[in-house]
Amino acid sequence: MVDAEGSSAPACPGCATPAAAFSTHDHAHCAAGALARAGAVVRARGLRLTPVRERTLQILLESHRALGAYDVLHRLAAEGFGNQPPVAYRALDFLEEHGLAHRIRRLNAFAACLHPGEVHAPVFLICTACNRVAEAPGTTVSAALTGEAATFGFAVERMTVEALGRCPACQAAA
Ligand SMILES: [Zn+2]
Ligand SMILES: [Zn+2]
Ligand SMILES: [Zn+2]
Repeated sequence: MVDAEGSSAPACPGCATPAAAFSTHDHAHCAAGALARAGAVVRARGLRLTPVRERTLQILLESHRALGAYDVLHRLAAEGFGNQPPVAYRALDFLEEHGLAHRIRRLNAFAACLHPGEVHAPVFLICTACNRVAEAPGTTVSAALTGEAATFGFAVERMTVEALGRCPACQAAA
């Protein structure tokens, strides 16, 4: 059994910094790395990225923006994957279940995970002007929240933090 990290590419400084989402960078590199890691995670679980699952992930990886299920569905339909909503929903559910994509509740949309296979409590920084989404690792936030919850005797199992605001480019344009 190959472990999830087994075939991952060497760390890329650009992709490792969540701030890359808000700046000009070699996104093809980012996307290819995330897709390769996602493939490894799925194979390690004895599953596979079927063509529709893989294409859905590629569509989400095209930019650092979250896409609604209907946007994904329209793209898939245009590419001949069928225009029935369950086609897109099933693929998105699979990606979400295996941590390859995250649901951004505030936007009712999905974003590809850039750290598939790593344990993380994502903190999403969502630009309300351009819809770009950066996924910060959230280590300090999750530690703080876990500590806070512990004072209530509450054991946190999952958390996702979503912050709304303006990215650097949109602040400069305002
Ligand atoms: Zn990128
Ligand atoms: Zn993630
Ligand atoms: Zn923006």
